[in-house]
Amino acid sequence: MTVTATCIHATAAGADLTKGTVTRRDLRPDDCLVAVRWSGICHSDIHTVNGDWPHDNFPMTPGHEIVGTVLETGTAVTRYRVGDVVGIGCMVDSCGECTACARGEENYCLDGLTGTYNGVDRHDGSVTQGGYSTHIVCREDFLIRMPDVDGGLDGATMAAMTPLLCAGITTYSPLKHWEVGPGSRVAVVGMGGLGHVAVQIAAALGAEVTVFSHSLSKKEDGLRFGASHYVATGGDAADTFHRDHADEFDLILNTVSAPLPVHRYLGMLAPDGTLVMLGLPTEPLSVRVNQLTGRRRGIAGSSIGGIAETQEMIDFCAAHGITARVEVVTAAGAGGVDAVNDAYRRVLGSQVRYRAVIDARTL
Ligand code: NAP
Ligand code: ZN
Repeated sequence: MTVTATCIHATAAGADLTKGTVTRRDLRPDDCLVAVRWSGICHSDIHTVNGDWPHDNFPMTPGHEIVGTVLETGTAVTRYRVGDVVGIGCMVDSCGECTACARGEENYCLDGLTGTYNGVDRHDGSVTQGGYSTHIVCREDFLIRMPDVDGGLDGATMAAMTPLLCAGITTYSPLKHWEVGPGSRVAVVGMGGLGHVAVQIAAALGAEVTVFSHSLSKKEDGLRFGASHYVATGGDAADTFHRDHADEFDLILNTVSAPLPVHRYLGMLAPDGTLVMLGLPTEPLSVRVNQLTGRRRGIAGSSIGGIAETQEMIDFCAAHGITARVEVVTAAGAGGVDAVNDAYRRVLGSQVRYRAVIDARTL
């Protein structure tokens, strides 16, 4: 069945979002049609819509934190049935053959992963369209099974688990890769969508967590999320905050969407510590090499996680009661899209606490 879905999309770089429609493909044998229930707003959506990462694929429907139910299954689907509650994150396909895919790291597919939106479908060459939409089609291998939670699909807990499909895996994966556990000293820079989930996961893994944030305005929340320390990096502290924390951290996760004075954060790494760049500003980095050599420090990047690891993360968060703190955006009626545009502006102003999630049923 070809489905014409209602969506919220961008028609040009930097323009306000508008309502539209997107045609979902007929199911291939290994596809599922999913009725979208919740759709998170990640800062990457805003980078893409605003043209921070230039592209010509307009109109474009963003959205890569998606939860919904399976409405229809392709003839070869074996693991999902109609009615199952599933998640979709940042990718919907990969080559399946390279060494990265063979390791279960489809996110590092050497042939390039297929993004959930603004990607190129490997079979028909069309541009993929994301989750700000009533329906989406996805290969079963790229679906995540969502747990049974209080309130079920329609409940507040499921809305709050939705951002884990990007913000959760993006922070869980490096915390696991760099073997964070009891005794680890972890810093999280920026407490927005990614950062507030990172604090919770790192604390649940047993780390001692310090947040570095613009100001102390979110300090109480940060401590409630599991941080032991909360440090302001702006205002009067801007030129000094790093001195009190020299050589302190085994791992620093930088979740900030804007360029930062990286040398200050490198100086806070303990010997053998690593600064992991998760935020994606476009400006190149400049690093003085002796800041690395003098303590055998590393600087690295990390991008989401593989499908098996995403499932592991969802199960870990369910077991530890970790969810995002969300503001639900309803988008009903002709003016409903204004609420999403307003959410974009509030994300850019660091005002959302801590992730906006669209109630896709109101589309
Ligand atoms: P977000 O909700 O907007 O959070 C970013 C946080 O960074 C803000 O809450 C703020 O925290 C801090 N910040 C923002 N502007 C700043 C500035 N000019 N100077 C200092 N701090 C600033 O964004 P998000 O959704 O968490 O995404 C964060 C970044 O990660 C984006 O660039 C996004 O594209 C990227 N991302 C990467 C991956 C990946 O796989 N690597 C996946 C998803 C997203 P405080 O108020 O606490 O300072
Ligand atoms: Zn994202």
